[in-house]
Amino acid sequence: MIECGVSIRRIRECLKFRLTDVCGCLVSHGHGDHSKAVLDVQKAGVDCYMSEETAQAVGANGHRTHIIEPLKQFRVGQFTVMPFETEHDCAGSLGFLISDGTSKLVFATDTFYIKHKFVGISIFAVECNYSKETLSPDLDHAVKRRLLRSHFSLENVIQFLQANDLSQCQAIHLLHLSDANSDAEMFRRRVMQATGKPVYVGADRARQPLHRADNQAAHQTRNRANEPVWSHKMTQQEWRDTFLGDIQSLYSVKLLRVWAARWAEDIKRDCPDYVDEIRAAYVARIEELKKACAT
Ligand SMILES: [Zn+2]
Ligand SMILES: [Zn+2]
Repeated sequence: MIECGVSIRRIRECLKFRLTDVCGCLVSHGHGDHSKAVLDVQKAGVDCYMSEETAQAVGANGHRTHIIEPLKQFRVGQFTVMPFETEHDCAGSLGFLISDGTSKLVFATDTFYIKHKFVGISIFAVECNYSKETLSPDLDHAVKRRLLRSHFSLENVIQFLQANDLSQCQAIHLLHLSDANSDAEMFRRRVMQATGKPVYVGADRARQPLHRADNQAAHQTRNRANEPVWSHKMTQQEWRDTFLGDIQSLYSVKLLRVWAARWAEDIKRDCPDYVDEIRAAYVARIEELKKACAT
């Protein structure tokens, strides 16, 4: 189990009351949204792994507490875990590289930057907290400053992913979105465009990836600065399906209007042949919703 930042009740529910099947719990840092239930988890008989600083912050010291250090590998059940430092406003914050012998997962949240590069990772689960583009303008200055210095922005996540070897990567999970400052669909689309990989947003909001890994391999191109950029060229047809899917999944006229304002230019650019069809679907969906409202 990675993190325990919700109530023990919720954890039990999510695990279908089989907490005894869990071989251990990794805790990235001492903030409540990651560590809240740690003492309860330990009471339930699960060993917890965390840095010295985290243990102090959460008051964990019993025999179920295992102190870990950056870049010192350890085993939990069938997994090997390599902790690494993350950059967050909480001492002793860690990310984890977890391997079960066949696949490798990188888990990193609450960090504005990751200095390590990873090779052969199958799954990236990384924070994507905000985008410089969507930072709410009425956000308090102090909050904004904290966000910029302690959390991963969309722009940095993309840079981080592009700097890594994605050849084995099967999925990217974006975690820890801050509601007011992020736009799940936009984030997912951007990361998918930049990496050519299926992208999922948060566990609670898990839906189908926008684009399933298909036999069309992602290919490498170069941008003007001659840095490699991973991109999967989506076909017009794929964009059309994506946009039509969006329209069907939006459930209010207001949301649809916001969606249209945001994506109008992209639709014209990415699937010019289908603009009329998408427009018709949009108009039909609005009519449908208005009718549903009236009755
Ligand atoms: Zn935190
Ligand atoms: Zn957090």
